[in-house]
Amino acid sequence: PLILGIETSCDETGVGIVRGHTLLADALASSVDEHARFGGVVPEVASRAHLEAIVPTMDRALRAAGVTLADIDAIAVTSGPGLAGALLVGVAAAKGYALAAEKPVYGVNHLAAHVAVDTLEHGPLPAPAIAMLVSGGHSSLLRVDDLARGVTPLGATIDDAAGEAFDKVARLLGLPFPGGPYIDREARAGDPASIAFPRGLTAAKDLVAHRYDFSFSGLKTAVARWVEGRRRAGEPVPVADVAAAFQEAVCDVLTGKALAACREHGIDTLVIGGGVAANSRLRAMAGQRAQRYGIRVRTPRPGLCTDNGAMVAALGAHLVAAGVRPSRLDLPADSALPLTTVSV
Ligand code: ATP
Ligand code: MG
Ligand code: FE
Repeated sequence: PLILGIETSCDETGVGIVRGHTLLADALASSVDEHARFGGVVPEVASRAHLEAIVPTMDRALRAAGVTLADIDAIAVTSGPGLAGALLVGVAAAKGYALAAEKPVYGVNHLAAHVAVDTLEHGPLPAPAIAMLVSGGHSSLLRVDDLARGVTPLGATIDDAAGEAFDKVARLLGLPFPGGPYIDREARAGDPASIAFPRGLTAAKDLVAHRYDFSFSGLKTAVARWVEGRRRAGEPVPVADVAAAFQEAVCDVLTGKALAACREHGIDTLVIGGGVAANSRLRAMAGQRAQRYGIRVRTPRPGLCTDNGAMVAALGAHLVAAGVRPSRLDLPADSALPLTTVSV
């Protein structure tokens, strides 16, 4: 079946079209430049940008795939979590198109879609698998036995999300928003061992109470203190070294906990999704360390890690194939949709 996916949860308007596990089109419009000068996404600006971009992006995707709306078998749309006003644009559009073309509609979870997108590159996800979701607003470890029916949370961040930490540290270093890709680039010229930054929730007592949880706010504060110390002393800040050492600390904790979850659950597949999964050091480190334990790491190509319509279409295709019933036409835009609700 031919599935169209609509994504509008944050600042990306995305429309993707898939046939099974094959990606046919992935059209994207971003309002990121409009938010950059505010140092973060401005919800009202994002909503308006979605409103302007949704129809042209839809048309672009259909044209790129060489199909018409009548050819589409089902429409999937991000129901949540995300910015309320932004989600509303995608959900309203999906309802409109579904009603006009008499197609079933699936309201899906944005976070589950970050995991499902990997199937477009590596085929069906073996069950069970461990999934690590690391994005701008979330950082979670999940056990996935059947992605169509739900996921089992093992742990999550107790403060900042991984992507949020990247963005805050980038800002501290005077790098543009969103900072993740800039830290990634700067770090290539830096020495990760030059500064010892803390690894949150990895002390023996934390590994009991917070075995699969993360904490990045202490790390962010440690970086801020270190940088301030340099500035106060009138010394230059070695941006590449700070970026590399910070990135190493984040990747070390993420990789360590994800692989521990795999081993303790006797699971040999780790899938990493979300914007931070685009990080080159995380990909390399996870791959290298996993080899020792015979664990396979699956990561979508960087362009599919950040928000897009293809991921929503991929999850929609998975739900259709699994025989999940479509959503009602009054499906909600739910800014706080829980991670465990894969489709509404
Ligand atoms: P959520 O999915 O939790 O709702 P979101 O949709 O805003 O949040 P994503 O688009 O999945 O987030 O990811 C964006 C985040 O990924 C940003 O914090 C960004 O800095 C980070 N990011 C993107 N590329 C990289 C990279 N190469 N290295 C590290 N972080 C990155
Ligand atoms: Mg974005
Ligand atoms: Fe996202």
